[in-house]
Amino acid sequence: MPFGRCPVCGAIYHMSTGLPIEEWYRRYYPQIPVLAEVPGECFRCWVPLRLGHRVSAHAVPAELTGRVAVGAEGVVTGIEPGPPPAYLVEFGGARAVTAQFRRDELWYLVGQMGTSPMPVSMKAFGLDKLSADERLALLEEIWDSLAANPEAVPVTDAQKGDLQRRLDAYRDDPKAGSPWEDVKARLQGRK
Ligand SMILES: [Zn+2]
Repeated sequence: MPFGRCPVCGAIYHMSTGLPIEEWYRRYYPQIPVLAEVPGECFRCWVPLRLGHRVSAHAVPAELTGRVAVGAEGVVTGIEPGPPPAYLVEFGGARAVTAQFRRDELWYLVGQMGTSPMPVSMKAFGLDKLSADERLALLEEIWDSLAANPEAVPVTDAQKGDLQRRLDAYRDDPKAGSPWEDVKARLQGRK
């Protein structure tokens, strides 16, 4: 399994691949030897921050020393467009303080998806600017990542109901359908 190293915070993290490892490297990191570390920001440094996101200060600018501790947790209350953008973070507690940070001084705190909306849209990630080929390549990568853990992909009640109905219909009358070989032969006979 490949490991990534975050250029911002130095964290080393594990990456899951849906492809055989040699193929994964050949496809995404052809210039890096198989099993060697790959570059890439970790999830805490990479998530686009939005208002209401909970973050921690993983680096504190000198002028805030003594007012904000490294590791302090706060909430993003303002974003001043850049470049580079500045993030206003409110730290609660007895000595509440709001201070301005750069993105690379903040960590997105994982596990808040239910409480704070994740920007899951093409536009939020800038994907709408990609070419059709780039989007297709990304789609393939996303698909591979889903295929790596099929049990993590939820099946809805509606889908379960539909599968059950089809299974019941087959059990009621197993002869109603045609075997795949017959269907294939019919289709091929048509061309
Ligand atoms: Zn990082």
